[in-house]
Amino acid sequence: MSPVTKIDQIETMILDIPTIRGHVLSMATMRVQTAVLVRVTFSDGSEGIGEGTTIGGLSYGAESPESIRSAIDTYIAPVLLGRDGDDVNGALQLVDRLVKGNRIARTAVEIALWDGLGKRLGVPVAQLFGGAVHDRLPVAWTLASGNSETDIAEAREMIETRRHNVFKLKIGKRTVREDVAHVARIKQAVGDTASVRVDINTAWSLQEARWGLKGLQEVGCELVEQPVPARSRRAMAELAQGYEIAVMADEALNGPEDALEVANARAADVFAVKVAQSGGLKRAAEVVAIGQAAGLGLYGGTMLETGLGTAAALQLFATVETLHWGTEFFGPLLLTEDILANPIVYRDFCVEIPTGPGIGATLDPDKIDFFRRDGGRTRKTVAGA
Ligand SMILES: [Mg+2]
Repeated sequence: MSPVTKIDQIETMILDIPTIRGHVLSMATMRVQTAVLVRVTFSDGSEGIGEGTTIGGLSYGAESPESIRSAIDTYIAPVLLGRDGDDVNGALQLVDRLVKGNRIARTAVEIALWDGLGKRLGVPVAQLFGGAVHDRLPVAWTLASGNSETDIAEAREMIETRRHNVFKLKIGKRTVREDVAHVARIKQAVGDTASVRVDINTAWSLQEARWGLKGLQEVGCELVEQPVPARSRRAMAELAQGYEIAVMADEALNGPEDALEVANARAADVFAVKVAQSGGLKRAAEVVAIGQAAGLGLYGGTMLETGLGTAAALQLFATVETLHWGTEFFGPLLLTEDILANPIVYRDFCVEIPTGPGIGATLDPDKIDFFRRDGGRTRKTVAGA
């Protein structure tokens, strides 16, 4: 028997990377994206890297970049040190027992463990999930400049350069009437050359959503994402059943248990499956399976991760037979600089699945040093220390 490859060290760092423009959401405007990176070093010298990222500090969800890092350093890393690095399921089960919630923190470490295992075996992480059935996936772009004319110019350029022909509009900050007029202008400008969808990020009441969905479907919008708060399952069910426009659950889906409840309540037509929100690649695969079993539409969702987290998500979604609504894995394109030495490739309205062992991402050390918070200091949890 070969000797066990142990988890020797787990290192975390926070990166602050400027966005190419202000990204206006119903709850926050992003000018910087903050990513938490994890590097796991194993006893044979191999490494795995992972990412845990959220949107807009604490405005989107219960975890912040700082809490993600703290949960890893204080509670997750110490229990994993010295364990068999190839036993990813064993590590996940242990963390599940000892750490409640904190899905994004758990995701960052989980991705690093899959990456390390894939690299040691010399296979892409998709292979560990049964193998990729796609080498590229359709990818949407989010129009969220906060200005209709800027959004139209951006959309036209994306169509002309064949980068995106699916657009998600972030609305919910203005009145319903203003938002519907904004969507109508953009749909009119792109016509049948593009699909237009919207994300409300929970900003509407049920009454606002009734008006909103009626208006949106009249102007040719195809899908509305999380119009009402995550816990409002009855309202989501009413909207899903009351209108032709597809209703997608995002914030409502925090792991397989939520997925089962949303599916049972028929509180969505489509699942936006996010790796970080699900609690990792394995849990996201379970959310996908529940959506498939319930006959729901599927969509690969993002937390606007850098190329690292995006590469990890692509490994999983490459294994999913049908993504009825495609993906939105454009995170790296929203950042002024790519932190990967081998940036993810976008062309012909698609994102390509990275090849190579592990998640298929290699960090650019100069970029990492440049964007690191805290003057480049990392926190390391070391076995035996
Ligand atoms: Mg969303």
